[in-house]
This record gives sequence, C-alpha cells and structure tokens, in this order.
Amino acid sequence: MSEIENLLREDLRGQSPYGAPQLEVPVQLNTNENAFPIPDEVAAKVAEFIGRELRGLNRYPDRDATLLRSDLATYLAQKEGGHGLTVDHVWAANGSNEILQQLLQAFGGPGRTVLGFMPSYSMHPLLARGTGTTFVDAGREADYTLSPAYVREAIAKHDPDLVFLVSPNNPTGTALDDAVIDAAYEAARGIVIVDEAYAEFARDPRSTALGRLEGRPRLVVTRTMSKAFAFAGARVGYLAADPELVEKLLLVRLPYHLSSITQAAARGALACAAQLQAEVDELKHQRDRIVKNLRAKGLPVADSDANFVLVGGLRDAAGVWRAILDRGVLIRDVGLPGRLRITAGTEDETTALLDAFDQALQQRP
Ligand code: PMP
Repeated sequence: MSEIENLLREDLRGQSPYGAPQLEVPVQLNTNENAFPIPDEVAAKVAEFIGRELRGLNRYPDRDATLLRSDLATYLAQKEGGHGLTVDHVWAANGSNEILQQLLQAFGGPGRTVLGFMPSYSMHPLLARGTGTTFVDAGREADYTLSPAYVREAIAKHDPDLVFLVSPNNPTGTALDDAVIDAAYEAARGIVIVDEAYAEFARDPRSTALGRLEGRPRLVVTRTMSKAFAFAGARVGYLAADPELVEKLLLVRLPYHLSSITQAAARGALACAAQLQAEVDELKHQRDRIVKNLRAKGLPVADSDANFVLVGGLRDAAGVWRAILDRGVLIRDVGLPGRLRITAGTEDETTALLDAFDQALQQRP
C-alpha cells in the first residue's frame, strides 16, 4: 500500500471514482444530457443576467440564493400547479448531486444507513460513501420494477435513516406509482428522497411527488436543471421539501456554495422555461421513436418517462455497444445483462443511432 493510500480513510481505500466514459465521438448518447445546445435567445437572456453580476463579483453571492429559489418556486407553480410551494420550500445547489450530498451530510453520516433500490442512479452509493453513510441495496423485482409491498418490506427489514427512490428511474426510465411513494413514506421513520431528475420528460406530467409534500415533512423531491433546461454544464439542482428540513441544510452547506454567476445564469434560463420546454417535447418524441423502432425489431423496451430508454433482449450487449461505437455513436453499457441504455438525441442523432443499431444487430444478433 502506498503512503498516501495508507493515509486515506479506510472506507475509501481501493475504491474507484464515478466515471461515465467521456469519449470524443460524433454522437454522444451515453450520459442522458439534453441533446440541444442552448438556443440563441436563451443564451442572450442568460448572458444578460450574468452581465448584471459581473461588476459585483468582488462581493460574495447571496448565501441563501433567495431570488433563484423564488424563481424555482414560481417555475414549479406555473408548470405543475404549485402545490403551495414557496421560496421557503425550495433549496438550490450545484447540481442535484450536491443537493443529495447535503441531504446525506445532514441526515446520514457515520453510523447511519440509506436504503436504495438498485439498479438505479449510480451516484447514490458513491454519495453515501463520501459522506460516511452506509448504503444498503434492497434490489428490485425481477423486471426491475418496484411495488408498494416490496418497498414496505425492504424498509421494515433494514430500518434506514434515509430512503432513495428515483422517479423516473435511471437506468430503467420508468416513473413510480404514487402508491410506492406513499408506502415508502408510511413504512420509513426517516427521510424519503424522491430523485426526480427527469420529471419533465414523464409521459404523464402529473407523475411527480410534489403534490405529496403537504403533511409529509420527511418527504423530499429533488430536481435538476441539467436535463429539461439543457443546463448540465451550469450545475444547478434543487429540492422541494418542508421549510424546516430546508433550514437544516444550512447547517452543512458551504457558505456561498452557489456562485453569483451560477445563480444569475439559472435565473436567466428559468425566464425562458417555456421555450426550453419545446425541446423537451421534441426529445420525448425522439425517445418514443427509439422505443417503437427497437420494439419493431423484437427487442423488449419498457415505455420511458425519461430522456433515455433501456433496451433488453441482447445476447451480446457489450458486443453491440462496441459495434455501435465503431459507427460513431456512444451509448451506455450500464452493466445489466443483455441491456443497454440509450439517451434520446436530436432527430439526426437518433437516426444515426437507429441505423448503427440495425447494423450492430446484423453483426451480433
Ligand atoms: N439523479 C439522477 C437520477 C441522475 O440520473 C442524475 C444525472 N445523471 C442526477 C441525479 C444528477 O444530476 P445533476 O447533478 O446534474 O443535477
């Protein structure tokens, strides 16, 4: 063991960091990004908001990101009926990854456990590890779905301090029934987090846990601007929860964690929410096109509520992945037997993907 390895926290020794491959290929459909660049008018609005901050960069930003949180609450109100959410119910950070990390810092930590249902978002166990929280994987049913009974039983068995639910789930693409969320909340004594990074892509826009927050102070819904707002590079995530829970996060956040530039950029993008929604609609269309096309080839694909699909029935998934990559299209081998995950792209990218898939299947049926 090297001297440095020896000095490292024992629970981090020998571990690997998060690493979705970042390869330079013409068509990148592997990290569930929004395929569309920021439209010119939106870029101009974002630049205008950032421009107003530049001379004030000698000062620290608003520690509590009040204007941004207020705009996020307004967005949720306009888009999803509000559910009575105000600035005090909303918290923002550098991506929903940081939101999740802050939740684990405040409510998890050494000696505490968080329960997850894998396969799901691969960062959840890593965020648990980084915060010294024990991650317990309760798995899923054979078809990767979750039922209320399954979730209730797993929570009763493991008695976790926190529970991660993901809806729509990554990598399966499917949204959870309200009954699963209610079952988890009733069975758990701790914090129940519903990670809704892909909420805006759901087939039924009502399939969000936001409407279940009232009267459930331990329930947290996390969201991101990385997907629907095509803002992954800006790093803006947020949550909606009971105001008392939001206040507790101030105990663990770094002072000035969200730069003035990030807050301004996000407010500029939020001012263009309606325009960006048109691209979400187009990505949903391309996603459904992939589902239809792959089904026509006889491959099992569940209907997706996200901007990606999980295809199954592949005898040689790794070989198909490679053959598609050889044709300049990068998708994701998430390590599930016979399955690959594909992010919906622009119309041209999706055409390139479907052509490459056809050829790959001929090569490796
Ligand atoms: N949750 C899920 C389910 C995700 O798939 C992702 C990103 N791929 C995130 C959260 C994190 O997103 P971000 O930190 O960019 O907000």
